[in-house]
Amino acid sequence: MSVPRYWREIKYRYRLLGCMCKECGSVFFPRRHICLKCGSRDLEEVKLSERGRVVSYTVVRNPPKEYEKYAPYIVALIELGDGARILSQVVDCEPEEVHLGMEVEATFRRVREDGPSGIIEYGYKFRPVIS
Ligand SMILES: [Zn+2]
Repeated sequence: MSVPRYWREIKYRYRLLGCMCKECGSVFFPRRHICLKCGSRDLEEVKLSERGRVVSYTVVRNPPKEYEKYAPYIVALIELGDGARILSQVVDCEPEEVHLGMEVEATFRRVREDGPSGIIEYGYKFRPVIS
């Protein structure tokens, strides 16, 4: 699991967009030009499912300098209800509470701040589903 990849996907995760293959219905994130399942090039942009399960995770204790104040934080690979997999930070959850199969839902949060008066980026993160 790569944390740099997580930050590169910000543009798409801001709107929680993926793409769906019009041939076989597979859903991917981030967006692709060719379907991994059937090879079709006929894909369309779709809003991803906002609920899913943790299939893999890592607790980041030594992040890049600009994210140091958020450490430790959880970055998880989440399989969404529509089958797409998304790498996301998991919030409202202690590092020792995260587990495989944990049910999570999307929540709109601040992603990072650039300097004291800088731009604040917002985007989707995931949090445990309280049942
Ligand atoms: Zn396909």
